[in-house]
Amino acid sequence: MGRTATLAAWRPDPGNPKQQVAMLVDTTECIGCKACEVACKQWNQNEYRINQELGTYQSHPSLDAQTWTLIKFIEREDEDGVNQWLMQKHNCMHCSEAGCVTACPTDALHYGDYGVVTLDQEKCIGCAYCEPACPFDAIHVDKSAFRQTAQKAGKCTLCFDRISNAMQPACVSTCPTDCIKYGDRGELLKWAYARVEQLKAMGYANANVYGDKELGGLHELYVLLEKPEVYGLPVNPTLSKRLTFWKYGLQPVGKAILGAALFGMVINWFAARRTFKGGHGPGEEAEAPASLHD
Ligand code: SF4
Ligand code: SF4
Ligand code: SF4
Repeated sequence: MGRTATLAAWRPDPGNPKQQVAMLVDTTECIGCKACEVACKQWNQNEYRINQELGTYQSHPSLDAQTWTLIKFIEREDEDGVNQWLMQKHNCMHCSEAGCVTACPTDALHYGDYGVVTLDQEKCIGCAYCEPACPFDAIHVDKSAFRQTAQKAGKCTLCFDRISNAMQPACVSTCPTDCIKYGDRGELLKWAYARVEQLKAMGYANANVYGDKELGGLHELYVLLEKPEVYGLPVNPTLSKRLTFWKYGLQPVGKAILGAALFGMVINWFAARRTFKGGHGPGEEAEAPASLHD
């Protein structure tokens, strides 16, 4: 299946922020050129730290706070002993049930318009609770000495600054094979399932779609040639119940108790002022009882 003009020209409806957008990577058409990595760094003004000691064509060992997308190179033998060279564009999946959003104590991470998981760096305190909560290892706090500013988390934004201004994500617009597609999530899924049928007819029995149902539906979708675990993708990831309880059970109760305590302190302060009114309130000198002047 080749280039799709309708998908390439697609823009979200500015009057409908509930519309679900997504990126779909047809990994079978990726040539590993890394143009998407460069475009992502360039658009987001992230630092470039090439690791040349890896012994692979992969540019970085993993995503980090300054590397928001990474082409993973997977070299292996399949079940029939045939050498395979697989590539997977790895970045934040913009989960509908996101561990990072659930773990974040300051609400710096939240569900934004168009299904994008948004990170407000002003609110980020660098606690790194989001890192282990992400099943895709897609968000990291910058602990490097390069950074002059406070430690903040960093991850793919789905180029929200671009898509909310009728532009395509930078990685999408730069991909020379159009293997990264961007558009309405439902339409992309239809395209993905049709592509998988085509691959199966070509003899790729393990071809599959990833991201349709995982974690309530991801906003980064894949057409994979092999099973997800071959690419290091989690099979049936779930949102931790303990995290959910902490965020939506304990946190609101804690905030309510804190609010009540503060309210109580304010009431006490006013009560104290009323008690001392006309007398020796805090910092005021006491008026002598009338009997003492007699
Ligand atoms: S992939 Fe990780 S960082 Fe991205 S939304 Fe999901 S949990 Fe958060
Ligand atoms: S959508 Fe934007 S931020 Fe995300 S990987 Fe692509 S270029 Fe980078
Ligand atoms: S730009 Fe496209 S073809 Fe090149 S590495 Fe990225 S996803 Fe693959």
